[in-house]
Amino acid sequence: MSVQVEIPTALRSFTEGASRVGVEGATVGEALGALARRFGGLQRHLFTEDGKLRSFVSVYLNDEDVRYLGRESTPVRNGDTLRIIPSIAGGTPGAVAYPSLSRLSRAPPPTGPRPLSREQLKRYSRQLLLPEVGTAGQRKLLGAKVLLVGAGGLGSPVALYLAAAGVGKLGLVDFDQVDESNLQRQILYTTSDVGTPKVEAAERRLQALNPEVSIVRHEGRLTSASAFEVLSGYDVIVDGTDNFPTRYLVNDAAVLLRKPVVYGSIYRFEGQVTVFDARAGPCYRCLYPEPPPPGLVPSCAEGGVLGVLPGIIGSLQAMETLKLLLGQGDTLLGRLVLFDGLALSFRELKVRKDPQCPICGEHPTQTKLIDYEAFCGLGEAAAPKGPEISPVELKEKLDQGAAVVLVDVREPGEFEITHLPGSKLIPRAALPDRLGELSTADDLVLVCKVGARSAQAAEFLRSMGFAKARNLRGGIDAWVREVDPSLPNY
Ligand SMILES: [Zn+2]
Repeated sequence: MSVQVEIPTALRSFTEGASRVGVEGATVGEALGALARRFGGLQRHLFTEDGKLRSFVSVYLNDEDVRYLGRESTPVRNGDTLRIIPSIAGGTPGAVAYPSLSRLSRAPPPTGPRPLSREQLKRYSRQLLLPEVGTAGQRKLLGAKVLLVGAGGLGSPVALYLAAAGVGKLGLVDFDQVDESNLQRQILYTTSDVGTPKVEAAERRLQALNPEVSIVRHEGRLTSASAFEVLSGYDVIVDGTDNFPTRYLVNDAAVLLRKPVVYGSIYRFEGQVTVFDARAGPCYRCLYPEPPPPGLVPSCAEGGVLGVLPGIIGSLQAMETLKLLLGQGDTLLGRLVLFDGLALSFRELKVRKDPQCPICGEHPTQTKLIDYEAFCGLGEAAAPKGPEISPVELKEKLDQGAAVVLVDVREPGEFEITHLPGSKLIPRAALPDRLGELSTADDLVLVCKVGARSAQAAEFLRSMGFAKARNLRGGIDAWVREVDPSLPNY
């Protein structure tokens, strides 16, 4: 049988850029096996050591999840399409140090259900005209409480549209400050906000847009210790985060608190949107039971993103949130929408509630929040260990004329922005195929942006016999900080 396999952007670096690949096989397993034989780098992304499909990769035959058909042994027919749907988080790689959630500001009680004022009738007139909204719907919005986890690329349009629509109380969770590199897509912020905590700048912007919305700042990152307290004050949770630990935390807390989550994620030109609500349908873990190992799925910081993509996906999240609050229309519960900006196409896949789901299934094995950094293989204990060299030590060696071979494992676009003089570019995904360009006798130093990807690359090289492969601790970022502040950074 000949079937087409659709390759998501995140995996196209392994298929020479191809977005569709035709393969032969009688079953899903055979077809994907043929694909992995043709593109060797895909093997470890798709299959475990013992040949089973990995649990963080969802495979759809036409629009059905193969887990609900016959998994690998599902028969395929001529002309069928297989789609590989990886979980994407969209953030920076590795564990990041962050302050715990603090400074919980208290909001006045939300506007209750009372007649709309003249100002409100004027401000909301264009949506009051919609029979699906009307004054009754507007009062629902004014009394509603929505929590946005993440005030970045996705959170920006969600916050702006919900505040504009008059959602009474908006909670914002974010630990970060506005950085110049955020302005390309995080439309809540302006140049003068650079250096300001995001929740603070966002509050200012949203109050300027609609003074009657009450903004609650939750500055810091959501943790297992704080999640219940924070989430419990809201009707709908919007997941606009950029990392797997927070996504699983938000999901689990929402399932246990019986609240809906409006989910969005982005990667390069692709986005995913859906609604999770374990009371009536699937949760995030029904779709992706386990996170991918750290570093296997490239992040936005590696892959880049066009600013309008989170604009589109975040706007869809805002639409779904308003529908949930109004109780109108058909929400995306049970449907995963995939958006491809380059092809400008939308596709829809079914997402089922998994009876075996560890948190929302028939016999849940998880009844409380866990350590999500550890669950996602992050955190200190999980960081790759091995020989490292500090930027200062490396500088001394280079100045002494030592024969060090610098291998930069970032993507070409990153290399173009900045790189260490004399370094050789071999993107991490290409490393297994380009070992021939390196010598096991060389004193290799692996370089990336923050030292996480390169640590994995060094570990891989040592396992392949390059005993002298070392990691540049802290990556280019640390080099710029400690050795050469004149180099541009990103
Ligand atoms: Zn579930």
